[in-house]
Amino acid sequence: MEVLVKDVVAKAIEKLDAAGIAESRIDSWLLAESVLGVSRQDLFLEPEKSVSEEQAQKYLNAVSVRVKHIPLQHITGYQQFMDLEFVVNKDVLIPRPETELLVEQVVSYIKDNDVKVLDMCTGSGCIAVSVDRMCANADVTAVDISEKALKVAGENNIRNEGRVTFVQSDLFENIHETYDIIVSNPPYIPTSDIETLMEEVREHEPRLALDGSTDGLKFYREICTNAVNYLNENGKIFLEIGYDQGRTVPELLRENGFTDIQVLKDLSGNDRMVIAGKE
Ligand code: GLN
Repeated sequence: MEVLVKDVVAKAIEKLDAAGIAESRIDSWLLAESVLGVSRQDLFLEPEKSVSEEQAQKYLNAVSVRVKHIPLQHITGYQQFMDLEFVVNKDVLIPRPETELLVEQVVSYIKDNDVKVLDMCTGSGCIAVSVDRMCANADVTAVDISEKALKVAGENNIRNEGRVTFVQSDLFENIHETYDIIVSNPPYIPTSDIETLMEEVREHEPRLALDGSTDGLKFYREICTNAVNYLNENGKIFLEIGYDQGRTVPELLRENGFTDIQVLKDLSGNDRMVIAGKE
C-alpha cells in the first residue's frame, strides 16, 4: 500500500500544531525532506507523489519526536550554515542565522589577506570552518573547553574539507600564539533568563553554550581582558552579542584599550555584533 505524501504531511502539520510547535509547516517539510527524501518543491512537480506505508510510518515517528519539542536539527542531524552542512547534536549549540552575519563581517574584512584567525568558543565549528572555507589565505585555529563539542567541530571540519586546527582550552588557557583576528560567539544569556527560553533551547541545547553567568557578560569580560595579549598589532576582534548588550560589551572593549568600536545590527534590527580594533 502506498500513501500520498501530501496526506501524510498534512497529518504531521496537525500533530505539530496540536503540540504547539511554532513552525509546524516548515518543520513538517524539512522532516519530509530528511526522512522521505521528498521536498516541497518535489511535490509541486509531482503533487500525487506517494511513499510506502512503512516510509510514511518512519516519517510520522520522526514527527512524534519533534512533538516532544526536541529540536528539528537533533532529528535530522544537521543544520545549514553559510551554504555548508554542519552536523549537530546535544553537545553543541545549533548554528543560528544571526551568526552568519558575523562570519560575513569577518570574511569581508579578511579578503585575500594572509591572516591568522582564532575562533574562541567554537561549538559546532560553524564560524571557524566557514571562515576557513571562504578565505583561502586564512589560517584558522578554533578553541572550545568541551571535548565533546570539539569532536563535533572536528567532524564538521572534515566533512566540509576545512583546514582548521582545534585546541581544547578554557578560553586562552592553552593558547600561546598571537592572531590577526579573534572572533567569538560566546555563551551570553544571563543565567536567570535561561528559564524563559523555548523548551527546545532550554532543555535540549547545552547550558554550557548558553549560560553567560549572572549578567550574561562573563565570557566577554574574560575575552576582552585577555584578547589584547593574543592580538597582533592592528588586530581586530569580532563578537556576537545579545540584543541588549550593545552598550555593555563596547564598554568592556573600551576599558581594555580597544578602539574603532562598531556595533552592528541583525536583520531584525537588534544589536548583534561588535567589531573593535587593537591600536
Ligand atoms: N561559536 C558557536 C556558534 O556560533 C558556538 C557558540 C556557543 O556555544 N555559544 O554557533
